[in-house]
Amino acid sequence: MPDDCLFCKIVSGDVPATVVRDAARALAIRDVSPQAPVHVLIIPRDHYDTAAKLAAESPDVLVEVHRLAAAVAEELGVDESGYRLVYNTGPDAQQSVQHVHLHLLAGRPLTWPPG
Ligand code: AMP
Repeated sequence: MPDDCLFCKIVSGDVPATVVRDAARALAIRDVSPQAPVHVLIIPRDHYDTAAKLAAESPDVLVEVHRLAAAVAEELGVDESGYRLVYNTGPDAQQSVQHVHLHLLAGRPLTWPPG
């Protein structure tokens, strides 16, 4: 893992975060700058730069990330009203943290297409 990876530091507990739910190989935390009433990040505990690398190297962890997202949606009561799952990948998508994370956005009608 890169020494300066923010999400590795959150996983290790060196940087504080509000944990919504955790699993063996992934963690769900509140986004510090929420873009919707519900904005949760699902983060694999191990470091992968992107969703593509996660899928190629550890598909079982990718599945766990999505199972955790579904459990969070149910726990926060948005599984019926609906939610959006997003992986920002690379500069054009404005990925700002180079440790893959799945955004779960919900709690209001979400516009499409996104900006
Ligand atoms: P992305 O732009 O897709 O890489 O998403 C990174 C997300 O991490 C953004 O939505 C940020 O608001 C969020 N973020 C940055 N720092 C923290 C932090 N310390 N705790 C929780 N979320 C954070």
